[in-house]
Amino acid sequence: MERNVRIGQRSKDSFARARLVFPDGTSRVTIERDPFPFYIERGIGSHLFDIDGRRFLDLNCNFTTLIHGHAFLPVVEALTNQLQFGSCFASPTEREIELAELLGARIPQVDRVRFVNTGTEAVLFAIKAARAFTGRSKIAKLEGAYHGAYDWGEVSLAATPDNWGDPTAPKSTAFYRGMPTSVLDEVVVLRFNDAEGVRRLLSWHANELAAVVLDPMPSRGGLIAPKPEFISAVQETACDNGILVIADEVLNLRQSFRGASARYGLFPDLVTMGKIVGGGLPIGAIGGREDVMKVFDASAGRPLLPQGGTFSANPLSMTAGLVAMRHLDHGAFAHLEMLGNIVRDGIDRAISSRRAPLCVTGAASLFRVHPMAQTPNDYREAHPATAGATLMKQLTRFFAENGIFLPLGAAACISTPMARADAEFIVDVFAGFLDRHQSMLDAITEHT
Ligand code: PMP
Repeated sequence: MERNVRIGQRSKDSFARARLVFPDGTSRVTIERDPFPFYIERGIGSHLFDIDGRRFLDLNCNFTTLIHGHAFLPVVEALTNQLQFGSCFASPTEREIELAELLGARIPQVDRVRFVNTGTEAVLFAIKAARAFTGRSKIAKLEGAYHGAYDWGEVSLAATPDNWGDPTAPKSTAFYRGMPTSVLDEVVVLRFNDAEGVRRLLSWHANELAAVVLDPMPSRGGLIAPKPEFISAVQETACDNGILVIADEVLNLRQSFRGASARYGLFPDLVTMGKIVGGGLPIGAIGGREDVMKVFDASAGRPLLPQGGTFSANPLSMTAGLVAMRHLDHGAFAHLEMLGNIVRDGIDRAISSRRAPLCVTGAASLFRVHPMAQTPNDYREAHPATAGATLMKQLTRFFAENGIFLPLGAAACISTPMARADAEFIVDVFAGFLDRHQSMLDAITEHT
C-alpha cells in the first residue's frame, strides 16, 4: 500500500495564510483539520488530489453531495453549454420544470416543488410551510439530528451527557451561546428509535406542534437504521394530531431511487432535498402534498408563506441537477447498494474476526464506524466516550495516510465511479487499522 506523507507542506503554508483572513483559517466549521486541512487541487471521478500531490479515494464527496464523484463528464458538458447562455435570470427557465417533474415522478408525496439554494433553506422553508399550513409554531425534532443552520433545527444538535437530560424527556439544549430561550421553548426533542417516547411527547404537545422533522437515518445522529415501530409511532401520532411529517432527505435521498422515506415506509407531508439533487452545485428543494405546498401559491395575491431567493432555481444548479439525477437510474442505485454492502459486510467481518470493540452502521451507499461493540440505537448510545472519540480520529488519520478521505463523526459515502476493487480497498485499509491499533482497542474493551 502506498502511504501518503503525513505533512503536506503546501497545505500547511496555505492554512497559515488562511488563518490571516478567516477566523479559524476556514470558511466552514465542518472542514477537517489534523492539524490543518488538505487543500484541493482537483477532483476526478472517485479521487481527490491535493496541492501536495497526494491522492485520496474520496468517501466524503463534499458531505455526500457528489454521488457521481468529481467532474462528472455529462454534468461538466451540460454546464459548459449552459454557461454560454447565462448563469441566472429574474425569470424562470424550462430546466426548473424538468427537474421538478423528475423529482415529482420519482419521490412519493412530492406533488409540488419549490427550489432554494441549500439544504438549510429547504428545511427552514419546510418548517415555515408547516407553520403556515397548521397555524401552529412549535416543531419536534430528534436529538443529535442535523438539519442545517436554522435555529429551530439546531436545537439539541450537540447535546451532551451533561445537558441532555432525562432519558424519557430530553431537554432542548442550545447549540450556540445566546441562542434565544424562546427557540428552545418552541422545540420538542425526541429520541431516535424511541417509539413510546415519540407517542407520549407528540401527544402531550399535540395542539402546539406544526410538524415533526425527521431524517430517517441521521448521519451525525449515528447513521442508525430506524426501527419500523419508531417510524409508525411518528406517522400515526402525527396523523392523529394534525401534525405534519417533514422528512429531511437532504442527505438520505441517495438511499434509493425513490429516496429514504420510501425505503423505510414513511409517508411524509413534506420532503426536503438538497445535495445530490444539484449535481454538485448549490441547491435545496421542498416537495410535498399539493394542499400543503399551496402555502407558497402567490397566484391569488400574497401567499400564506412568501418565498423567493436571488439564486433560487438558477439554471446552472437546475442543469447540473437534472443531468446528475437522470444518470441516477435503477442500475446506478443497484451498483451503489452492492458496493455499500461489500464495505459494510467486509468491515463487519474484520471486526468480528478480531473481536474488536467496534461496529458499523449505515445503508445503501452510506456507512459509519462506531467505537463500540454494541450497535447503537440512538444519538445517546452512539455518543462516544473520550477513548472512542480518539480512536475515531486515529481511524480517519490512518485512512488519510493510506489514501482514503474518511469523514470523522459523519456518514462516509460510495459514489458511482467506484468499483468493487475500491470497496475491497476500503475494507483492507480498515483491517490494517485494526491490526495496527490493537492496544488502543484493548483499552476500549476494558472500559466497556
Ligand atoms: N439536512 C440534512 C439532513 C443535512 O445533512 C444537511 C447538510 N449536511 C442539511 C440539512 C443542510 O444542508 P446545506 O449544508 O446544503 O445547507
